[in-house]
Amino acid sequence: MSSVRGDVRIDARTLQEALASADPVPETDHPGYTIGDATPLAAVRPKTIDGVATALTAATRLGAAVVPWGGGTRMGLGNPPSRYDLALDMRGLSSVVEHRPEDLVVTVEAGCTMQALQDVLRDSGQYLPLDPPLPAQATVGGLLATGISGPLSTAVGTPRDQVIGMRAVLADGSIVKNGGIVVKNVTGYAMDRLYIGAMGTLAVIAEATFKVTPLPRAEATVVATFSSMNAATTVCNVVTAQGLPLMAAEVLNGAAWSQVGQSDDGNGDYTLLLRVAGRPSAVARSIDACVAACRETGVANVESLNDDASVSLWKKVTDLGWESGPPDLALRLLGTPAHSAELVALAAQESDAAVSVSPTRGVVKAYWNSDALPPDVHAYIAGLREAVTALNGTVVVESRSRLDGVDAWGPTPDSFAVMRQLKEQYDPHGILNPGRYVGGL
Ligand SMILES: Cc1cc2nc3c(=O)[nH]c(=O)nc-3n(C[C@H](O)[C@H](O)[C@H](O)COP(=O)(O)OP(=O)(O)OC[C@H]3O[C@@H](n4cnc5c(N)ncnc54)[C@H](O)[C@@H]3O)c2cc1C
Repeated sequence: MSSVRGDVRIDARTLQEALASADPVPETDHPGYTIGDATPLAAVRPKTIDGVATALTAATRLGAAVVPWGGGTRMGLGNPPSRYDLALDMRGLSSVVEHRPEDLVVTVEAGCTMQALQDVLRDSGQYLPLDPPLPAQATVGGLLATGISGPLSTAVGTPRDQVIGMRAVLADGSIVKNGGIVVKNVTGYAMDRLYIGAMGTLAVIAEATFKVTPLPRAEATVVATFSSMNAATTVCNVVTAQGLPLMAAEVLNGAAWSQVGQSDDGNGDYTLLLRVAGRPSAVARSIDACVAACRETGVANVESLNDDASVSLWKKVTDLGWESGPPDLALRLLGTPAHSAELVALAAQESDAAVSVSPTRGVVKAYWNSDALPPDVHAYIAGLREAVTALNGTVVVESRSRLDGVDAWGPTPDSFAVMRQLKEQYDPHGILNPGRYVGGL
């Protein structure tokens, strides 16, 4: 087997021989690394950062295109790779390297799953406030490479805000380090910030150091149903304006609420979830204030869930749409909090999407299974992009199992020239995840 890159032909045997010392994966397992209809010529699962460097050095020498592979939960994100020769499975680097509970910092290898990391932290009464979908599979490296955040970022910011150091391997095999376990701030240019959200197109993340947080002593969630999206977002705005310390806020439409296993009792079409955490007395006060704000805004039904019940509901909300593998279509609309209601209306028009929105962040997620897809998906996405762009937002296609010819990211942003420059500087031969990212980078 071989693949062609320009006028260079990459032979599977040559590539596999060059990778013999980098923990190759048996050929029979290569189909497990398929993306769309592309299966790599070779796959490696190194156990050390030096092994990652060896694999990338060989790939650069041969001009082989590399896809870094974490838990594989988001391989549908981004455009299909324009070339794909080598799967670089990072799950061989799965240790928690150092946890200093007294300093609230942890260093972890990129292939460690989020669940395994949280289990270690929990033993010391701490956690990393990032709660990706499918945490038993999703890896630290995959999470940072996608850079996407969820409901908890209302309180704690994005993954970028929580990383204080990183080790990464560049395309040519050189190992670079920024920050690390230093509690004081460091000066200098934080290159690691660039790798977060770059979808593995600039470097392979090998290790990260995070600030961690004490687990809250109590938590609770107000669950309130409203007949309109505007009423739900109004309550959210009122509660935020009162300065209540919300850990997360999300509104789900009826289809999404049913999908997280709750019955849509017909009393209201939109369910607002307000999550608070902290000392038990403070949580109780915040819950009372949230319930009062709901009652003043014509709520159809309101209740609160405590501790385990609250945690378990948010787990379902986080996994929404991905419970049993990628949905047929998943879109993320990124706008502003002020446009939340409009974005939801646009996402749900002409279709039966399950929609959830974070009104404090202006981020809408919409999911379709095959029986609910809009009749003409291409036209639907094109129309949606036009309308969302008019609101200064963007639409990202996150899952596209039956969608050819639609760009995952939409029009290139104004910053594209800088992005291309960085790509040329960090990966001059274009071997890292080629074609996956914005503008075909
Ligand atoms: C609260 C929350 C909500 C989220 N919601 C969503 C969501 O709705 N949709 C969504 O798509 N994501 C979402 N994410 C992001 C999600 O966490 C990540 O997409 C997921 O963790 C990927 O993990 P993975 O190991 O399965 O990555 P993979 O699927 O293996 O890889 C994802 C991408 O990262 C690259 N990559 C993997 N490992 C590395 C590495 N070590 N170095 C460089 N590149 C690498 C891969 O090549 C690929 O392009 C959310 C995250 C949080 C915290």
